[in-house]
Amino acid sequence: MDVMGHDEEGAVGAPFYRPQGDECDVFAHAHALGLPLLLKGPTGCGKTRLVSHMAARLGRPLYTVACHDDLSAADLIGRYLLKGGETVWVDGPLTRAVREGAICYLDEVVEARKDVTVVLHPLTDDRRRLLIDRTGEDLTAAPGFMLVASYNPGYQNILKTLKPSTRQRFLSIAIDFAPPDQETAIVAAESGLAADRVAPLVRLAGKLRALKGQDLEEGVSTRLLVYGATLIAQGMPVERAVRAALIEPLTDDAEVKRGLLDLFTAVF
Ligand code: ADP
Repeated sequence: MDVMGHDEEGAVGAPFYRPQGDECDVFAHAHALGLPLLLKGPTGCGKTRLVSHMAARLGRPLYTVACHDDLSAADLIGRYLLKGGETVWVDGPLTRAVREGAICYLDEVVEARKDVTVVLHPLTDDRRRLLIDRTGEDLTAAPGFMLVASYNPGYQNILKTLKPSTRQRFLSIAIDFAPPDQETAIVAAESGLAADRVAPLVRLAGKLRALKGQDLEEGVSTRLLVYGATLIAQGMPVERAVRAALIEPLTDDAEVKRGLLDLFTAVF
């Protein structure tokens, strides 16, 4: 396999990912150099899909951790558990990835507790070390190991942001929703709905995204477009599918919903 992950075998069966730019190349180079990577972008824009696609292309196992505000370093590293009257050490996903030379993906890393960053720092510099203080092990990451983290800059607030000392340890890629023609191709491929029927959904998404920060906290994601298109492909009337996939998930406010439905009528 070459640096870019161009390996016929690895590529076969890799989850479909349509690149927006050079993100696959940057990912492959980061992996070859053993550098950590940060993916920045709104929810549902393709970050997780990019990681699973590249893990398959590079032929590495993938451990994905959805971070939340209660996630601690022990959840990543591992802990002693009682098994059949004995206490045994069980590796967490990060430790497994470090031992196996796998890719570890920390989704929404800013959500995690502060002690997680302490663990990540020695792993993200050229030492590539993971210290497990509970067992006294000091592991050097196996070749092939890569740390990938994502975060959504839109959710940023004073309390939950990545400190410069952490973010400057990662190469970074900004990913946004794909431009309309590309997003139409993605949604058509994922849902099986013909591109000419997907196009108005993508146009509506553009209008809904323009409302972000005014009536809506978040614009509609590519994920929701795929859901909506899948419902339509299965025979659901367009308006019902749009309500369920593109309107109800965005707001609870009756008046805002009516406004969004008006946008739907204007587009379709
Ligand atoms: P994120 O991790 O950014 O929240 P995901 O990677 O889970 O988002 O993307 C949500 C869905 O959108 C995917 O399951 C896939 O169906 C679709 N998708 C988004 N971008 C792409 C892309 N570039 N290529 C293929 N599918 C995509």
